[in-house]
Amino acid sequence: MFDLENDDTKLHTMIHLIHNTAAQFLPTQLPNLIISRSSFRSPSTMSLQSSPNPNKSRIRGVVFDMDGTLTVPAIDFPAMYKAVLGEDEYISIRSSSPSGIDILHHIEQWSPDKQQKAYEIIADYEQQGMDRLQIMPGNIEKAILICLNHNAGAEDLCCFLNSRNIRRGLITRNVKSAVDLFHERFGMIFSPSLSREFRPYKPDPAPLLHICSTWEVGPNEVIMIGDSLKDDVACGKRAGSVACLLDETGRYDSPKYANVEHKPDYKVSSLAQFQSLLESNFDLTP
Ligand SMILES: [Mg+2]
Repeated sequence: MFDLENDDTKLHTMIHLIHNTAAQFLPTQLPNLIISRSSFRSPSTMSLQSSPNPNKSRIRGVVFDMDGTLTVPAIDFPAMYKAVLGEDEYISIRSSSPSGIDILHHIEQWSPDKQQKAYEIIADYEQQGMDRLQIMPGNIEKAILICLNHNAGAEDLCCFLNSRNIRRGLITRNVKSAVDLFHERFGMIFSPSLSREFRPYKPDPAPLLHICSTWEVGPNEVIMIGDSLKDDVACGKRAGSVACLLDETGRYDSPKYANVEHKPDYKVSSLAQFQSLLESNFDLTP
């Protein structure tokens, strides 16, 4: 078995595995394995068609968020926000921003000195995340394989996209070095991949529109998937694309998210469910 006490990476993966396994048995996640909520469309899982279907929207590209979507969540965002803002300001901003804190945008208003310190704290947390980087697994068996250094989940999904000639891009608010490390570990390329050096970053639609333009496809032919309502879903909706929220734990079921400006078109709790969604609800002919 695994030497968990002496292997931080495996420990984090196992925590994630246990968490996902528990989540599979939550009653709210049983129907169709896709969370049903009145404000979200619930995809049919009855038929998986491979032939063209004029009644389905055509999808020619998928744009992914990186942290928490293609990789196992490894950055402690609340701790990072508290370290940057201080406890009191964190609580104050958190209460006035129900969908989440846009820390990068917030510190842009600060003086250069204060901003520099904030970026150093953020870089430190991001480095800790990079040290623990793990590709997103698909299910419990695959999570165990991940512990044995096999990529799965995200890898399966990308193989599926390859088989259908569907483009894949990446947009992250993390730095380019983190994207480079991800590509190195993952072994498959997302192109274009836009990090926060590309301005303006998410939730601005600019990076997604840039990718659509590069691909020469309409924004409505692209689906954006990510684990952040305020960044990924907002970016997707503002660009005019289809937006899918990856919510592994059901945290977005909380009433505090009921009145956010940008709601996802779809919500899934794993990348495997996202693949089912693509197969059942969209025309994927190249
Ligand atoms: Mg994310």
